[in-house]
Amino acid sequence: MTDDPRSDSIFTRIMRGEIPATLVHEDEHVVGIQDIQPQAPVHVLFVPRKPISTLDAAAPEDAELLGRLMLAAAAYARRIGLGSNGYRVVMNTNRDGGQSVYHIHLHLLAGRQMSWPPG
Ligand code: AMP
Repeated sequence: MTDDPRSDSIFTRIMRGEIPATLVHEDEHVVGIQDIQPQAPVHVLFVPRKPISTLDAAAPEDAELLGRLMLAAAAYARRIGLGSNGYRVVMNTNRDGGQSVYHIHLHLLAGRQMSWPPG
């Protein structure tokens, strides 16, 4: 699945309520969405309300927002008791990074042992 960069992303449409999804976090800047195809027992996407297409397109003025994604993921992980066992956060970027939805999002993956290197 690849998003069409010319139209609103799937995540923007979820935020508008046009596509159903399970939201586990919502604040002024960031939404946490359960991944529809989870790759681990916990798989949540932290998405900025601002539709930045890829990390490569992020600007210096997005620095605070990028930090908010990390902190929202960490707070959620603590809230559901993952802090000590741990978790992985990933932002796939453009083709080689395996990005399929062109609205940046931080994957939070947890609930199993992660391997390294990633595929
Ligand atoms: P990426 O490949 O890094 O761009 O990640 C996109 C993620 O969005 C994938 O893990 C998909 O499973 C997930 N995804 C795509 N459509 C939806 C949807 N409608 N609701 C929730 N997650 C979705």
